[in-house]
Amino acid sequence: MTDLTRIGSNVLSGMPLDRAAHRRVDAAWLKASFDDPSTRYIAIWRQNAVVRLGPEPRPVVHYRETLDGLLDGSAEPTLLGVEIEDGTAGAAHFVVDLSHVEAGALLARSPGGEMMDLRELVQIVPGPDSALIAYARGLTYWHQRHRFCGACGSPAAALEAGHQRRCSNEDCGAVHFPRTDTAVITLVHDGDECLLCRQSRWPPGMHSTLAGFLEPGESLEECVAREIEEESGIRVGDVRYHSSQPWPFPGTLMVGFMAQALSREIAVDETELEYAHWYKRRDLLGLRDSDEFRLPGRYSISRRLIEDWLAGRIPP
Ligand SMILES: [Zn+2]
Repeated sequence: MTDLTRIGSNVLSGMPLDRAAHRRVDAAWLKASFDDPSTRYIAIWRQNAVVRLGPEPRPVVHYRETLDGLLDGSAEPTLLGVEIEDGTAGAAHFVVDLSHVEAGALLARSPGGEMMDLRELVQIVPGPDSALIAYARGLTYWHQRHRFCGACGSPAAALEAGHQRRCSNEDCGAVHFPRTDTAVITLVHDGDECLLCRQSRWPPGMHSTLAGFLEPGESLEECVAREIEEESGIRVGDVRYHSSQPWPFPGTLMVGFMAQALSREIAVDETELEYAHWYKRRDLLGLRDSDEFRLPGRYSISRRLIEDWLAGRIPP
């Protein structure tokens, strides 16, 4: 089960490999790694990964041999990093996008495996495994969505072992890097109450903290204040950083904050929220999940913000 107790880290962070960025430009090492039978491949199929079920579910790891015949026609594998074994570099890990094959063809190479979305697998596999799949999924998604140069529209090709894409038009030659969108997520509090909201598209009963995307020319603190006021009408001050979480759904970094409310009257933006309410700590502590009220999944930073506030853990 995912370890939620590690201080300062959130689920989906803590990717266990050495990213070994210097190897991305080491053509000889990359070629030797592709040919090495001990090299590990994580297969991503349309944003899903294969998980081997059982008493201790783990993502399925492939080898060149087990993917024989499936790698043809796919983009070149992207280097994730190398395993760290007793302080020395171990097996290389690559992610390969197999979205073009039939799901059954991949599952046939993965005995006992089942195709699973990250939101599902994060709840059953060890934390470092989910972080690895989150990383693999994020890179794969970026490649899928950046086949063409954003500057001139010409095809772009992967380089640096899949960590850049360069435009094929010599007059342009723009180099593109994997992008991460920044979003802030904030628990707003006032004494023994906190502000939670609900969006109509969420599952029944789901309530959460407020979140929104950072805009150009905006600091994170300004973004927190703007998003909270736009969505709920509440003004905040004393915005304090809590922690961050990679959120590859599809390519976001969630930056978590707690903020003191400076006003009380709620006026929701109904295009964003169904409603927002103040909730008392003692009421939240006594609640059990139901279709009328539930909190976000335990793997999410929003849940961690809520749980930390409930426990009185507010950043100094
Ligand atoms: Zn271009």
